[in-house]
Amino acid sequence: MLPAVTELRARPYSAPLARPFITARRRVDTMLGVLVELELADGTVGHGSAGQSFGVTGESVESILAALNGPVTQALIERPAAGLRGVTCAVADSCVGNVAAKAAADVALHDAWSRTLGVPLTEALGGDAASVLRTDMTVSLDTPQRMAAAALEAAGDGFDVLKIKLGDDRHADLERLRAVRDAAPDVRFRLDANQGWDVKSAIRVIRAIEDAGIPLELVEQPVGKHDLAGMAAVTAAVDVPVMADESVSSPRSALEIVQRRAADLLNIKLAKCGGIGEALAIADIARAAGVDCMVGAMMEPRISIAAAAHVAAAHPAVTLVDLDSAEWIDDPDLDGGYTLHGGEMHLHPGPGIGFAPRVKGEQE
Ligand SMILES: [Mg+2]
Repeated sequence: MLPAVTELRARPYSAPLARPFITARRRVDTMLGVLVELELADGTVGHGSAGQSFGVTGESVESILAALNGPVTQALIERPAAGLRGVTCAVADSCVGNVAAKAAADVALHDAWSRTLGVPLTEALGGDAASVLRTDMTVSLDTPQRMAAAALEAAGDGFDVLKIKLGDDRHADLERLRAVRDAAPDVRFRLDANQGWDVKSAIRVIRAIEDAGIPLELVEQPVGKHDLAGMAAVTAAVDVPVMADESVSSPRSALEIVQRRAADLLNIKLAKCGGIGEALAIADIARAAGVDCMVGAMMEPRISIAAAAHVAAAHPAVTLVDLDSAEWIDDPDLDGGYTLHGGEMHLHPGPGIGFAPRVKGEQE
């Protein structure tokens, strides 16, 4: 049985990025977010976190704190005895939107729950903590020369899959990708247009890349997130698998995407859908539809990345992982959860998400 939640503590967090994170929609130089501690009646503490993202979830540090300290805490503490699933649903229903805030609380709740069971979170969810995940490394949208240099560095670090950010200019995009391919000819590529193309541009660019013989594993969110008819047209017109990302914000949206065959793959992020319960519901829908999933993350604190890795290792519909975000963050004080070398992620074998963050200013 899940002990009652007695307290939720949330505080702002920021860390500089080692290099700017640039997509067709935004640029991030400093990661701003919130760290969460959730305490159960037996004294168990779980950790969660959230990142500010006006461009994807619409949330700021201030709004995340307000949601956590208001309706989310109320749902956690004033709930009837309902077990983990009941509390998860109460958090999801506590307010409209505020998905990153809900995800931070939901992760902290799941972390505490699996700590009470004495097992890694992924094993509490039915997975195997010994699973080895392989993540890509992202190359920010930039000049062809800078993108080529970043690709060369990532390939040198042992990453065999690179996620290339494109989408602001279809002519420049092909030039960028050629430069990256020439710099790192032995890696596989995932493209992410972050909604940056219209339907015709997307089909033209992707076909030009296919005609140029550049091997693509997938293309993420080629068109606007609400344009499912447009994304279905792109999916039908090209050979490379198309992945929905920004369009997948809930189990309901996942259901609509698979029913309309708007994409071949789904990208699940805890911060987009509001937490682990909703993420697993999306993965279940994907499995029922015969669609594979990637688990990705926003630019958010390392705790969130560790939680996403545990979810990725727990569900058979998740066959791809995109969890390099924390590698961009320059904060040695917030470490733990997993190790990552050359694209290989190993989960911490201890209870929960295996995270005991050393917070700045605290004694070790
Ligand atoms: Mg994406």
